[in-house]
Amino acid sequence: MGYSKSVYDRADRILNERRLSAQRNAEKLRLAFYEANPKALEIEEQLSHTFTEIARTVMSGDKEQLEKIKEKNLALQQELNRLYDEAGVSEKALSPHYVCEKCSDKGNIDGVVCQCYEKLVKQIACDDLNRRSPLSLCDFESFELKYYPEENRRKMSNIFNYCVEYANTFSQSSDSIVMTGGTGLGKTHLALSIANRVINNGSGVIYISAPEMVSALEEYQFGREPSSTEITARILSECDLLIIDDLGTEFVTAFSKSAVYNVFNLRITKGKPTIISTNLSIAELEKNYTDRFVSRISGYCRILFFEGSDIRIQKKMEERQK
Ligand SMILES: [Zn+2]
Repeated sequence: MGYSKSVYDRADRILNERRLSAQRNAEKLRLAFYEANPKALEIEEQLSHTFTEIARTVMSGDKEQLEKIKEKNLALQQELNRLYDEAGVSEKALSPHYVCEKCSDKGNIDGVVCQCYEKLVKQIACDDLNRRSPLSLCDFESFELKYYPEENRRKMSNIFNYCVEYANTFSQSSDSIVMTGGTGLGKTHLALSIANRVINNGSGVIYISAPEMVSALEEYQFGREPSSTEITARILSECDLLIIDDLGTEFVTAFSKSAVYNVFNLRITKGKPTIISTNLSIAELEKNYTDRFVSRISGYCRILFFEGSDIRIQKKMEERQK
């Protein structure tokens, strides 16, 4: 790992809030229980008293006395359990419910970083980049095949099913995908639906448009912390799924060409899936980008050809007729 300090600070804050809120909720439940069962509070106090007694008697070596106190302790415990049963609660239900039971939301187990913390840091770093995307997340449920002409519907239905299956079974060994086709054919809708489902299933997804990605990679920042370019490049290459929307709409320069290629290539070498959506045909991609980029795409990606007529125009016409 190696993100900016602010990412770690936010992760620490979130964990703190999680832990405190679990403890506060447990405390509230416990107080409510004592209020309804004052006897239980009395017993708890007696119990803590007998524990001190036990410790003292062990020191004195009086075995007979020790047995007596142990019996008393057991009886109190049984009485308390009976009160719990009567109230329909358990000791466990009144204890804090942490988001991560392994580390009790502390973020480490005996000084070793817990997985929940690593996941949180990654998620915050991904969210930072996703905030650049002006689009809200779509879902598969709102995708409608009726907008595709009869002759394209079967093919689009296959693409739709492939995307649903892809999102449901997403893993680090999933394919990389290129979605190509004209404007308004549902590429962005399906790409966002995949992002939505994959995020819900717990993976780190970055959804970013090609212009945003290029400008994020162009930003420089000097200081003691690693430059934002460096951090951005690392997050882009490390997230579980990177979705680059609208490739070809960025201002194409020597820098942008090599930036896009480098990110994509780095992910291939790390074995991480990427989805690219573009209005450009493969021939146009060849014209606008380097040969090695296009040959990488053809070699490593499943290419989905979107067909039909602009759905956005159809929807607008429908609305006007209403
Ligand atoms: Zn944990």
